[in-house]
Amino acid sequence: MSNHSNLMWHNGKVINWEDGTTHVMSHGLHYGSAVFEGIKCYNGSKGPTLFRLKDHIVRLFNSANIHNIKIPFTVQELISACEELIIVNKILNGYIRPIAFYGYDTLGVHPQQCPVTTSVAVFDWGEYLGKGALEKGVRVTISPWRKFHSSSFPTTAKASGQYINSMLAARDAKEKGFDEALLLNQEGTIAEGAGQNIFIVKDNQLHTNIESSSILMGITRDTVIRIAESQNMVINLESLSLGQLFSADEVFFTGTASEITPIKEVDGRKIGEGQPGPITRNIQKQYLDLVHGRIKGYEEWLTVIKTKDND
Ligand code: PMP
Repeated sequence: MSNHSNLMWHNGKVINWEDGTTHVMSHGLHYGSAVFEGIKCYNGSKGPTLFRLKDHIVRLFNSANIHNIKIPFTVQELISACEELIIVNKILNGYIRPIAFYGYDTLGVHPQQCPVTTSVAVFDWGEYLGKGALEKGVRVTISPWRKFHSSSFPTTAKASGQYINSMLAARDAKEKGFDEALLLNQEGTIAEGAGQNIFIVKDNQLHTNIESSSILMGITRDTVIRIAESQNMVINLESLSLGQLFSADEVFFTGTASEITPIKEVDGRKIGEGQPGPITRNIQKQYLDLVHGRIKGYEEWLTVIKTKDND
C-alpha cells in the first residue's frame, strides 16, 4: 500500500505505520475473528470532516457485541483515536479503518484468553469502484455466489470472516470483466453488492431492501433514505426482485467507500438509458454536498477537525 499515512493508532498508542504488525498465529488471521469499520474524512467547507463517525464506531461495538469480542476501549476512546489520526497525519481526505481482532494466544476455534487487538489506520482510497465510476456508472454481474443467510452469520455485524463471501463474488465479477458483483440472498431476491447496498428507482420512487434480505444495514443507505425523505420522495423498504432490477429506471450502489455509484448495466443489459439517471445524479450530489458540510441541518453527522487553518 503506497497511499497510507505515516502514523496509525494501535492499542491506545500512536505508532509508525510500519510498526502496525501482528503475529501470523493470531486467531483473527486464522478464523477471521475480527470486526471492522470504514469511515471517510472529507476536505469539507470547514476543514477535515469525518462523516457519521459516532455511528460507525457504535456499529463497530455492535458488531463486536454480536461476536462477543470485548474491545478494551470505549466508544469515545475510539472516536478520539480517529480524530487524533487525522490531526497527527494532517489528513484532509482519507479513509479510516478501525479494526478489533483476536490476537495471539491459542489456536483453538474458541478464542479463550486471546487478547483483543484494536487498531485504527488511515489512508487515501480514491474511487472504490475505479476511476470514473461515480460519474459514468459501473457494470455489474449477478454473482453465482449467494449472500450467506442471517441464520449462518449475523449479516448486521461487519465481521472480517464473512467477507470471504464478498471476496469470492468480487473476484468472479472482475474475472468476467465487470466492475462489481451483485449478490442474491438464499431466497433468490437481491441482497447487496460485495461491499455496497443497492437502491432501485422506478417512477420517481426509491426502493431498497431490508435487514431480512441479508444485508449489512449500511450507514450510507440510511443517509440516502434521510436525503430522499427531505425531498419528499416515496421510499419503499421491501425485498427486491430481479424483475424490479431489470425493469428499473435507475439503480445505484451506496457505501462509505463507494459513496453513490450509479449502476448502468447488469450482465450486459442496460439499466434505463444505460447511463446515470437524474435521480441518482441528484442524490449523489446531495450526498457529496452533505458529507462536505455544504448543506445545513446535518451538523450532528459531521465531526469537523480543528486545524491551524480553521481554528
Ligand atoms: N454492504 C456491505 C457488505 C459492505 O461491506 C458495506 C460497506 N461497509 C455496505 C453494505 C455499505 O455500508 P456503509 O454504507 O455503512 O459503508
